[in-house]
Amino acid sequence: MLQKQVRSILNRHKQRDGWFLTDYSVNPYEGCSCNCLYCYIRGSKYGANMDEGLVMKSNALEILEKQLHARAKKGQYGFVAVGSATDAYMHHEEKWKLTQAMLKLLLKYRFPIFISTKTALISRDVDLLKQIDETAILPADLKTSLGRGVILSTSVSSMEPEITKMLEPRAAPPTERLKILSQLKQQGFLTGVNAIPILPFISDTQEQLEKIIAATKQSGADYVLVGGLTLFGQQPADSKTLYFNFLKRYDPNLIRKYEALYGTNSFPPKHYVAKLNSRAKALCAKYDIRISILSQHGQIPERNTAGTQNKLF
Ligand code: SF4
Repeated sequence: MLQKQVRSILNRHKQRDGWFLTDYSVNPYEGCSCNCLYCYIRGSKYGANMDEGLVMKSNALEILEKQLHARAKKGQYGFVAVGSATDAYMHHEEKWKLTQAMLKLLLKYRFPIFISTKTALISRDVDLLKQIDETAILPADLKTSLGRGVILSTSVSSMEPEITKMLEPRAAPPTERLKILSQLKQQGFLTGVNAIPILPFISDTQEQLEKIIAATKQSGADYVLVGGLTLFGQQPADSKTLYFNFLKRYDPNLIRKYEALYGTNSFPPKHYVAKLNSRAKALCAKYDIRISILSQHGQIPERNTAGTQNKLF
């Protein structure tokens, strides 16, 4: 794996992320070997196979310690997304243990954390995560509403393994992700599923969305976040190009529907998002599961991504 030196690693968001409650993000690696075709970080920088362009930030720990020390000294505590533009537990982490070493620093400086992963490797760090959960210092407004220092989640775009195998080639199958999440719940963690991205005409139907939300409930998760699919770029390694290649293989009849839905845009239209949200809300009420990290069947929080580096998973 390539290595590089960085000057900064703890990114402060201009505003808290309304979905994940994170004020900061850190990324131990650049690129992601899970290689999801729809991943927003895609592009010519990494190539179609992101595993080949992966970079490890070799001075990450030294820089992170300096930045955490400075923020802690000023009392600027906030949730840190560990892996917002990479999967912090992709398979290379097994060897490099950079995420693990970062967690030790986050524990030392008592920062709360949010993690979303599509692999089973997170189980390795349960003891460390428990210590962070118990000792992190929360921002004042989350002390009573949340009251704990770790949020653990996985992302699910579809419960159908033949689809996820094509779209998320190096990630664990969805049932395995939920099994790990269930084990984390049994260990006492706050857990959730990011049902993101929900795939138009594939996993956004009543039946398919219900499958995801029912499986989430069955895993014991505390919440589910539902979000649409974004597709960027025109170049060969961009997510829109790769996703349309997937459609050609999966069901060419869908291409015209996607063209009508997205046109030249990267985001689905507002009327589509409103329909998806209302379907998700009704299903969350049916399965008695929160539709956001904090509220009970409440409003779906607005997501302000300005200044954040959060992937849409
Ligand atoms: S969506 Fe997440 S897990 Fe998939 S390639 Fe991108 S960063 Fe990795």
